[in-house]
Amino acid sequence: MKEALKCPRCGFTGRPEEFTFMQEATIYYTGRGLEHEERERPIMVICPRCGEGFYLESPVKRLLERLGAG
Ligand SMILES: [Zn+2]
Repeated sequence: MKEALKCPRCGFTGRPEEFTFMQEATIYYTGRGLEHEERERPIMVICPRCGEGFYLESPVKRLLERLGAG
């Protein structure tokens, strides 16, 4: 069974490939050049219907991954 995503703003539900995914990234400028921030960032999902972005972050999924079950 394929995982479906649901937009919390307008209620649109669709397959993951129907949404746009964006990974936030912060770039620091140091004296030696640009450096990417090491911290892990949540993935933002853009709804194809209303265009609003929301975070995919799921605490439950996180917990399962940490336990090695995901
Ligand atoms: Zn939406």
